[in-house]
Amino acid sequence: MASTVLQLVSALLLFQSCVFCLPLGQDVHDTSSCGYKSCHATIPNMLNVHLVPHTHDDVGWLKTVDQYFYGDRNDIQHAGVQYILDSVVDQLLKNPDRRFIYVETAFFYRWWKTQSSTMQQTVKQLVNEGRLEFVNGGWCMSDEATTHYSAVIDQMTMGLRFLNDTFGPCGRPRVAWHIDPFGHAREHASMFAQMGYDGFFFGRLDYQDRNTRIMNLDQELLWRASDSLTPPMADLFTGILPNGYNPPEGFCWDQSCDDPPIRDDPDLEDYNVDDVVTRFRNIATKQAAVYKSKHIIMTMGSDFQYENANLWYKNLDKLIRYVNAQQANGSRINVLYSTPSCYLQELHRANLTWALKTDDFFPYADDAHDFWTGYFTSRPALKRYERLSNSYLQTCNQLEVLGGQVSRNGVFGEGDSQTMRKAMAVAQHHDAVSGTEKQHVANDYARRLAIGWQHCQVLVSNSLAALTGSSAQRMYCENLNISVCPLTEASKKFSVNVYNPLARPVTRAVRLPVNGTLYSISDANGIPVDCQVVPVSAATQTLRGERGYAVNELVFQVQAPPLGYTTYSVSLLQSRPPPAPTQPRPPPAPTQPRPLAGVAAIQNKFLRATFDPETGLLSSLSNLETRQTIKLTQNFYWYNASDGNNSASIQPSGAYIFRPNSSTPFIISKTAKTESIQTSVVQEVRQWFGPWVSQVVRLYAHSRSLELEWTVGPVPIDDHLGKEVITRLDTSIDSAGIFYTDSNGREVLQRKKDFRPTWKLIQSEPIAGNYYPINSRAYIKDNDDQLTVVTDRSQGGSSIYNGSLEIMLHRRLLYDDVRGVAEPLNETSDEYPQGLVVRGSLLLSLEPPRSAADAHRPLAQETVLQPLVTFTDGDLHPNTRLEFSGLQAALPPAVHLLTVSQWDRDSVLLRVEHQFQASESKEHSLPVAVDLQKLFSTLEVLGVSELNLSANQWKDEMKRFDWKSHTGEQPLPKWPGDSSVWEVTLKPMEIRTFLLRVSHR
Ligand SMILES: [Zn+2]
Repeated sequence: MASTVLQLVSALLLFQSCVFCLPLGQDVHDTSSCGYKSCHATIPNMLNVHLVPHTHDDVGWLKTVDQYFYGDRNDIQHAGVQYILDSVVDQLLKNPDRRFIYVETAFFYRWWKTQSSTMQQTVKQLVNEGRLEFVNGGWCMSDEATTHYSAVIDQMTMGLRFLNDTFGPCGRPRVAWHIDPFGHAREHASMFAQMGYDGFFFGRLDYQDRNTRIMNLDQELLWRASDSLTPPMADLFTGILPNGYNPPEGFCWDQSCDDPPIRDDPDLEDYNVDDVVTRFRNIATKQAAVYKSKHIIMTMGSDFQYENANLWYKNLDKLIRYVNAQQANGSRINVLYSTPSCYLQELHRANLTWALKTDDFFPYADDAHDFWTGYFTSRPALKRYERLSNSYLQTCNQLEVLGGQVSRNGVFGEGDSQTMRKAMAVAQHHDAVSGTEKQHVANDYARRLAIGWQHCQVLVSNSLAALTGSSAQRMYCENLNISVCPLTEASKKFSVNVYNPLARPVTRAVRLPVNGTLYSISDANGIPVDCQVVPVSAATQTLRGERGYAVNELVFQVQAPPLGYTTYSVSLLQSRPPPAPTQPRPPPAPTQPRPLAGVAAIQNKFLRATFDPETGLLSSLSNLETRQTIKLTQNFYWYNASDGNNSASIQPSGAYIFRPNSSTPFIISKTAKTESIQTSVVQEVRQWFGPWVSQVVRLYAHSRSLELEWTVGPVPIDDHLGKEVITRLDTSIDSAGIFYTDSNGREVLQRKKDFRPTWKLIQSEPIAGNYYPINSRAYIKDNDDQLTVVTDRSQGGSSIYNGSLEIMLHRRLLYDDVRGVAEPLNETSDEYPQGLVVRGSLLLSLEPPRSAADAHRPLAQETVLQPLVTFTDGDLHPNTRLEFSGLQAALPPAVHLLTVSQWDRDSVLLRVEHQFQASESKEHSLPVAVDLQKLFSTLEVLGVSELNLSANQWKDEMKRFDWKSHTGEQPLPKWPGDSSVWEVTLKPMEIRTFLLRVSHR
């Protein structure tokens, strides 16, 4: 750190002393012996067996995160993390050779807070000596298939910051450790590389892939995780663990296991040392035969183990002693207490050459009919709420910075972003947003997010009060998706504040539930805005039940400035009296269905979508600017889930697994009843496919994408059939079995039906075995046309037929899939006792392939970071500031403002990102510069230091192991560097992280 600061001081003449008092490089004269220095010696020319004592502590799964921490509800699962940490620390103190790794900072943080300062000193000592080592270190071990990169980076940053603040450099994990997630995303590997990890270990991969790798000794490899970033920036050494994350068979000494202890007193009965040593040597020798080096790793632990750590350590001490004692008799096996980083260090020292991998580890199957591709879609409502909460958190973070200190304590009380950060961090866990937790745990995640929203709302109100100069009460409407908003439904005059978290202006439509029939709207400059009143659909009226009574929606287009807000004033001109809320809800009064013959198309100046008048289905899509047209039909189907009823040997569909019992899905309806709405602001065709599926196909006047707003549910189960509901787009695009899906919302990977890039696939599930995660987009293309679908949450999808793209929307299942959750995925709620109804939208963009990214990159970011719309009743005070932008100017189209977040009192964490891949856009796939001093309109940037992606290390101090791969190095593209400290250059797909010292102007 000292060198970094000096360098900056001389460059900028701005810093007088310690600028950022992060403990990033805390003490240069540190005498600690943590990290690689603390590893036990190994013996050359022997087989070294690295025993890694560990526990896998799910941040919620069968029990909530707090139940797991306390050891509550042991009737569900015996697990108590507080006791694990108590017991492990106690046992580590008994023998300095012993090692333990800890992974989930959400739990460690809970435990640490309640320890005495003496105990905290003791633990620090253990960490400084490398006896207790943090591995991975994020708040949780994130899911890889259903998470968005921005939320993953946030949760890693939060966990690693706690470790840094608490333990300094000795708390910094060297190894990423995802032993349980169900398949592995390339973008995760890329992020881990940029977070400075030297290597990565995991447990689960496709069984055929594993068999091939065992044969080729490729269970350890070099993962090149980006097509765009210059190697080795996104290169990550990756190791596949031998037994998932469990101990070898017969060697589990936890209180939850039944394996025999080591009985080493020859005077007592059942002396078994010889037997244990022989069995262990056999296992070690076998394992060594399928790995490349003279070192092997054994994970000695499993789910929530080490609650009584004495059992494990007492037997491990003996195992090491007795196996190594055989060296005197010529044994060439050396066993030692170790950690993943110590094992990694030995692999690095071995100086071998490793296989290079450039694709990912999806989908994951553990047997021929057991594809873990259902969880890509499981719990679609939670998945949407999580994504929306991310958008809200980013807005909350930004407004905390822009509004200054009064944001946290202002006219509306104390607000914070921290509650939401924690709720979001917990929600990234591989049994949270993945949808693979029990129902009561899913409810707990949602509840935490809802509390996070409340805290953020106070902060946002304070911040907007400061920025607007008005302390008028601000109202929030979280149910606009079902046309519920008490204020707009009742008020005759109100104002709408639209905050845009993106770094460029956005234009989008706002729909507000109202009861009037005519309104006038003016923008921040007093200029009238075109607005239209359309009836609330019958589907929405049914869906919201007693919660709202608006009969109409007021639709208008808003334009919000970058990182800022604008204000619209709305006045009721004509109304019929709204029914009092206490009266029974009036019967749905949908508009008269109009025959489609007159409305065979909806169109704006960019797009035209036609409908088949016979079926009511979409029939074509045209881009009027590029003059391209594709045939396009779209409909809804359901796969009949295999059930567990007929035979115990049949694998059913469940929370994790997708297993249709036929490759042919049932159609919900061949035709749709339709009605249409055509106004100057929006055109809609409302399609009704049946009592539990409807859709609105929507085109706003300004929009370059066609919206398909689907509503699915309650999925009926009175026929006792589990259903996995999809929508399928069938087009004239000649996609030849190839389709594309994004990885965690960033780089896009090519997929090919019935094919895996690195092994010869024997396809045993023609549908489920072709499903991939879609986090933000999927597309198909040929030479002329690319149809991109941007999703509003993570979903599973595939292309089964030429020219088609299918996306799974909802699942309702009647059997457990025997992977541990022990509940069928059958979601109901108090509001929806008949089964959850889920609504979402797909945005369709039709472009020539060469310019498609220019459309879908910004479209996806606009979907992820949606404007926050808030309301104030009545007239605004005349001095209210109606418009504000936190930026001096919009950022270039290639640049995405990923993070603007208060770090400490005077500093702000900033991440700027190049959002295009190399060579996907002629115009934008080029380096682009951003001047950090000219970024903000109200903040003066006094100093800047660059960090690694997870903000726990100075960028120039981040040194990683280098690894040799089989394939020769690619020629490196010659990109320019930064032209000054302030003006930073972003190359395609690069994210750069800075700590800015700021003051408010
Ligand atoms: Zn787990």
